[in-house]
Amino acid sequence: MAWFKRQSVELDTSGEKRVKTEGLWVKCDQCRQVIWKKDLDANLNVCPKCDRHFRIDARTRLAYLLDDGKYELEDDKLASTDPLKFTDLKPYADRLRRARSETGLNDAIINARGKLNNETVIVSAMEYSFIGGSMGAVVGEAITRAVEKATEERLPLIVISASGGARMMEGVVSLMQLAKISSALARMEDAKAPYISVLTDPTTGGVTASFAMLGDLNIAEPGALIGFAGPRVIEQTIRQKLPEGFQRSEFLLEHGMLDAIVHRRDLKNYIARALDFMERPKAAISN
Ligand SMILES: [Zn+2]
Repeated sequence: MAWFKRQSVELDTSGEKRVKTEGLWVKCDQCRQVIWKKDLDANLNVCPKCDRHFRIDARTRLAYLLDDGKYELEDDKLASTDPLKFTDLKPYADRLRRARSETGLNDAIINARGKLNNETVIVSAMEYSFIGGSMGAVVGEAITRAVEKATEERLPLIVISASGGARMMEGVVSLMQLAKISSALARMEDAKAPYISVLTDPTTGGVTASFAMLGDLNIAEPGALIGFAGPRVIEQTIRQKLPEGFQRSEFLLEHGMLDAIVHRRDLKNYIARALDFMERPKAAISN
């Protein structure tokens, strides 16, 4: 008989005195300041010290943008069928199940209808915490439906992007969404309904390569990562060091890829003013 036996019971730490501070304080990853979570929330999740725009979820985004934070959900029953029965490190079906339970959403998108400064608008907001806001068949279809609704009813469309790009687990099905949304947007343009694209941190890959850059107005939040391929891949391909601030909103604005950078606190009024300006000819005709 062994004279030493390992106890299989794990150490009981339930009696340990602990102060729970989790969730009360947040550290800003730009200025390293520790911020009280309530101060951050009150400041629209923008760092009060350095103006760093924190990532926010799609529901918070809609609440900030629409009057009284109220909106009606649309197209929220769409769900992916995992067409390729794809498995990488784990099955795609498991990833979907997990993302659904964590976010309470069916996929990485919320379609909503609400009022923005008293004007009815259609909004599609992407949810980054759902598999990196990646665009598969459901996101593609939801955005296309939003575009088609806006076209039919001649309502303004606002798409808020936060995405790592096409969803690799759906292969070519995800890539087809780029063409599908883009052609719906072309029809929308013919109908003269305004489309405002809001690019938030991060907007990359196929999303940047299609609808995020196709707005009548393309606006971004300060400091957002916006690009197609990541900086490391580009550096390896062109064998050159990339300039400072490459692929951030400010760099893109300077190089003519964006129309404006708008602070989160000004976003709602900025969009309202832009829509007012874009729709003025329509109002003049109907009068
Ligand atoms: Zn900060």
